[in-house]
Amino acid sequence: MRPVVLCFSGLDPSGGAGLQADIEAILATGSHASVACTAITVQDSQQVYGFTATPTDLLLQQAQAVLQDLPVKVIKSGMLGSISNIDQLQQILSENSLKFVLDPVLVANSGGSLIPHSDLPASIHKAIKQLLPYADVVTPNSYELKQLTNIEDLDEAAKQLCAWGAKAVYVKSAHQSNLKYVCNRLFENGELVYSHTLPRLNAEFHGSGCSLASAIASKLAQGFSLMDACQFAEVWLQTCLKNADAPHQTGQLIPNRLA
Ligand code: PLP
Repeated sequence: MRPVVLCFSGLDPSGGAGLQADIEAILATGSHASVACTAITVQDSQQVYGFTATPTDLLLQQAQAVLQDLPVKVIKSGMLGSISNIDQLQQILSENSLKFVLDPVLVANSGGSLIPHSDLPASIHKAIKQLLPYADVVTPNSYELKQLTNIEDLDEAAKQLCAWGAKAVYVKSAHQSNLKYVCNRLFENGELVYSHTLPRLNAEFHGSGCSLASAIASKLAQGFSLMDACQFAEVWLQTCLKNADAPHQTGQLIPNRLA
């Protein structure tokens, strides 16, 4: 069968981000997507109204059913919903020797929080950091990088994630709207190994980060090197964004991942 990616992601009813973004990205790039649903969010293309995390025992049952049945090559995580779900994913990663793409989701592109209000952000950051030693690549946006490391300079922050155990960090600069260009950079073992400058598209997108991380996971599952997977994914994403659907005259666009 096609290479299988198991995604740990939340449901976004608008279909722009989360598990639908993951499924579409993985399908469009030639792999098969399976999903352990971590949370059900209530949101549209413009804002997040709330969410409920999946109970951790149910999350585990979903993951076990897939891992016992399908030849999973790569695990990809996005929104995880609760500290207990993050701990469970860590346990699964420690028991299964699989490639792992960690998208450390903290907020939606609309700005809405995707971490539980009941937990202190510091506890969530600590829990996410525990996943770093399992990660073949972490795909933070600039906001997540700064939040996780408390370091303003993105390259220094990426090196810090490597120092905390991540094998590689792929930095997306798309959230720095003061720049005319998007400059994506890949750090492996704390060293810059690749950078690519793309023209900035003049719009806000809902689910672009999920799509990119999933396309990287899909290509890793097919045996691409990390650098080739990242290069493929950023070019592929650019096409999806250029063909994005606009539900409104203003606000966020929904990437067309099957373009
Ligand atoms: N996961 C879920 C369930 C979401 O709803 C969102 C954003 O709304 C994300 C992840 C992150 O989205 P993005 O790809 O825009 O960073």
